[in-house]
Amino acid sequence: MQRSPERKREVTGRDQGHDDESGNEYLKRIDSYIEHLAANLWHLNKYIHDNPELAFEEHKAHDALVLLMKTQKEWKITPSAYGLQTAWVAVYDSWNPGPVVSFNAEMADALPNLGHACGHNLIATASIAAGLATAQMIEQYNLPGRVMIFGTPGEEGIGGGKIRLLEAGAYDGVDVSLISHPGILNNSPRVRTTAFARIEVEYFGRAAHAANSPWLGINALDALVIAYNSISVLRQQTMPTDVIGMSITNGGAAPNVIHAYAAGVCVLRAASALRLRDLQQKVCACFHAGAEATGAQVEIKVTPGYADHVPNLVLASLYTKYWNLLPDVPSPPIPPGDQRTFVKASTDQGNISYAMPSVNASFAIPPGPLKGQPHSPEFEKSSGTREAFERALRVGKALAGTAVDILSKPGLLEEVKAQWRSDMEAAGVIVRRS
Ligand SMILES: [Zn+2]
Ligand SMILES: [Zn+2]
Repeated sequence: MQRSPERKREVTGRDQGHDDESGNEYLKRIDSYIEHLAANLWHLNKYIHDNPELAFEEHKAHDALVLLMKTQKEWKITPSAYGLQTAWVAVYDSWNPGPVVSFNAEMADALPNLGHACGHNLIATASIAAGLATAQMIEQYNLPGRVMIFGTPGEEGIGGGKIRLLEAGAYDGVDVSLISHPGILNNSPRVRTTAFARIEVEYFGRAAHAANSPWLGINALDALVIAYNSISVLRQQTMPTDVIGMSITNGGAAPNVIHAYAAGVCVLRAASALRLRDLQQKVCACFHAGAEATGAQVEIKVTPGYADHVPNLVLASLYTKYWNLLPDVPSPPIPPGDQRTFVKASTDQGNISYAMPSVNASFAIPPGPLKGQPHSPEFEKSSGTREAFERALRVGKALAGTAVDILSKPGLLEEVKAQWRSDMEAAGVIVRRS
């Protein structure tokens, strides 16, 4: 049972609006607490930004974040958690039953040769600020429940650190997951990302002399070219949100030999995991067509990528409330109503959103003169500025407000979960009601 804190006004319903007194009071405390942390967080943010490490090699970031968390009283820290060297878990417990809210601190994985061009230093900063502020509010207002911060490594590429943690049971018993991601275009907690998969295809034919006895051969490259062309034809009937990219990684050997072997790689993106499954079937049919036409043997290896991110609208409305309550609302404003912000990128937070209610708030940082977006050298510079850091703190405050509402308002978590169940049913996932 959730205990109601004594000092708060009883508020029920989904959108409490700007006149929410408890929200205002919480936010004042969250704001001043995060400002009080700012000097330490700035050093941490700068240290991570200036020491980029690749996915699953984020040792400096791991050690620095764990060290900071260890200086916080009452937090229980597990470094190198769940068999992942650079993952960690921090828990702050009220020791009163209640919601379990969590923040994913991207373990600051950087990009090869580009450094922090995806701004993951800012994600870690926002989540740490939010987690610490939420714990402070639990203490100050005697709130029930628990707050957790997960140091999640290896999001870039298809490493899927969060998926590994999810599969290892790290999120068992966690009610909601909150995270953010910087960019330059959007401020939005209703971010949809794409579902993603990688397919490797190999054809095995039979070599023969291409002039003297070609009829004895089976041409693996022909099979691959037929598949490539079939996929090109397929593209005219795909959905606007579908993306199919393909490359030939082995185009056969000598031109005077019927090719015994050819191989390619295909990358698929779609608006939802359900749509991705359909698209994958169509692409695999093209691969089989190549084999059928030539007599080559085909081998297809599908590496599941990331699921699309399904934003929880109830959580998003709480985030929006706090974002707009803070002074100097940055541009662009959060889109009105339930409007989703569609981002053609993929994240393993998508998989988390299929396991529990999630928000992955996009936030705009001041861009450089060329308006370089994530994964560009200019964005690497933008993500290291003081202005970008200040935006990350604002995100941290809005995320903390969201978490505090869940912990303090009876019935709100049930509303969040009801929204999630209906989202999952719409996404074709069968949800067990408990
Ligand atoms: Zn990235
Ligand atoms: Zn990223």
